[in-house]
Amino acid sequence: MQKPTEGRNENGATHLIAPDAPPSSDFIRDIVAADLKSNKHGGRVVTRFPPEPNGHLHIGHAKSICLNFGIAAENKGVCHLRFDDTNPTKEDVEYVESMKEDVHWLGFDWRDKMFYASDYFEQLYQYAVQLIQDGKAYVDSLSADEVRAYRGTLTEPGKESPYRNRSVEENVDLFTRMRTGEFEEGAHTLRAKIDMASPNVNMRDPVMYRILKASHHRTGDKWCLYPMYDFAHCVSDAIEGITHSICTLEFEDHRPLYDWFLDELCTPCHPQQIEFARLNLTYTMMSKRKLLALVEDGYVRGWDDPRMPTLAGLRRRGYTPEAVRSFCERIGVAKRNSTVDVAMLEHEIREDLNKRAQRVMAVLRPLRVVIDNYPEGQGEELAAVNNPEDPSMGTRKVPFSRVVYIEQDDFREDPPKKFFRLAPGREVRLRYAYIIKCVSVVKDEHTGEVVELHCTYDPETRSGGPAAARKVKATLHWVSAAHALPAEVRLYESLFTTPNPSEAEDFTTVLNPNSLEILTSCRVEPSLVGATLGNRYQFERQGYFCVDPDSSPGTLVFNRTVSLKDAWAKIEKAQGSAE
Ligand code: ATP
Ligand code: MG
Repeated sequence: MQKPTEGRNENGATHLIAPDAPPSSDFIRDIVAADLKSNKHGGRVVTRFPPEPNGHLHIGHAKSICLNFGIAAENKGVCHLRFDDTNPTKEDVEYVESMKEDVHWLGFDWRDKMFYASDYFEQLYQYAVQLIQDGKAYVDSLSADEVRAYRGTLTEPGKESPYRNRSVEENVDLFTRMRTGEFEEGAHTLRAKIDMASPNVNMRDPVMYRILKASHHRTGDKWCLYPMYDFAHCVSDAIEGITHSICTLEFEDHRPLYDWFLDELCTPCHPQQIEFARLNLTYTMMSKRKLLALVEDGYVRGWDDPRMPTLAGLRRRGYTPEAVRSFCERIGVAKRNSTVDVAMLEHEIREDLNKRAQRVMAVLRPLRVVIDNYPEGQGEELAAVNNPEDPSMGTRKVPFSRVVYIEQDDFREDPPKKFFRLAPGREVRLRYAYIIKCVSVVKDEHTGEVVELHCTYDPETRSGGPAAARKVKATLHWVSAAHALPAEVRLYESLFTTPNPSEAEDFTTVLNPNSLEILTSCRVEPSLVGATLGNRYQFERQGYFCVDPDSSPGTLVFNRTVSLKDAWAKIEKAQGSAE
């Protein structure tokens, strides 16, 4: 058994156990409340989060984690973390560790209640023997293909296996020899003896055990016989004294089987299985198997690629656990499948970072601006507000000098209608600094590309100065060329071009070729010199950014977590190719 976990979040603070605010009720919370009222489980609330360690957790799992750990916390109960490790060929201890890290990162703690289905292999085996002895399970020797053919269809009943009526003695003998490794994979299975004519296909003598000559990441070569999910899951729940076994809707048709096993086995308790709709997000795929394919085939840089919907990916992208929890709370818990707009997730992180992220200036695609009438060699420091949403975050000094960088996008030689930023002859304000006017343009003589602007500044317009209130149509962010630090910035778009990539026959055909853009010539203000992993910023007018683990002192790398809402982009889109 594991020791109680003393979890810490990335800032070193102890984890929150409970969500920030009690979520509004839903049908599952109503069931739990009613059970508490009727004293159905003697006042106990025990839930569990049962991932299979065959990949990394994703935002869909976060919904389940928030629900299970949330309900336990709200009711002074406990939520178990149980690894459903019954398929050794797909599972790995690397995944176990990452799942623990992700649950902690989200802000939840299982205390000393961490379990593995593999802890119960012996007990599960004994329960299976009991079913055989009760005449409720048998060893079948049909091949996998035959089992499938005998199963029937949704409209036709199945056919009974010729091995279905083996004697109890023969079944016990064969099952024991299956355990000792006498038979090859596929030679036999253990099946529950229920009803081959049941309208519910899951009840047509489901397979309980298969022979698998595979090493398990925890039990090694002790077993060559592994239980199927439907058998292992309900019995594990019962062994742990789970009161409410909350799972996703695709298990609704498995509930009769869940109940059948527990009724036939007279387990010490009989948890109630309750199903809710899984989270689907637009432009996202949420199956560990498909996410693994993206990683293995090199379409992303790894499980924690910031474009991935994994918790590791979201974390690297700069998402906060608070934003993910608040998203899970906002989407609620329902009984009908639906798809949530990914914009809603983005909205949550914007809201959160708006409150906490320090504002800084960074120029992603620099255009050199020389201020001709600003004295050469002179400089000054201007006060900049760290966060207008939170005055307690104070101010900082930003250096200004004769040569600054602005965004290439903020200048148009031939400005279209509604483009209010810099253009020849036009004035704009440099944030926290002066109003400047563009007087001439330097172009590359070969390409014609604008490479430098010459401007003049109005010394009266510095904030606090006599003409500080003078109005111009745009305020631009900038950095001082002499003081700015170089940085790499990674911009992301959704990984897929269609809202429902899972519907595509081959998801590789709907991958977004522009999902990652790497900008290597960015310039950021010098206050970012000490930026380290975990730091998050708003780059003014560009969005929210976080430091990527690829950063090292002297080589800053930032990920854009999410852009700010960009009114101009909308106008430009609406105008189409008008310009
Ligand atoms: P995947 O297909 O992503 O691998 P899974 O259901 O096979 O998902 P498990 O590791 O078995 O993954 O899931 C652990 C728990 O998380 C289960 O209770 C499952 O119902 C829940 N879960 C998985 N995906 C979602 C989702 N998209 N929304 C809500 N809950 C989910
Ligand atoms: Mg699964």
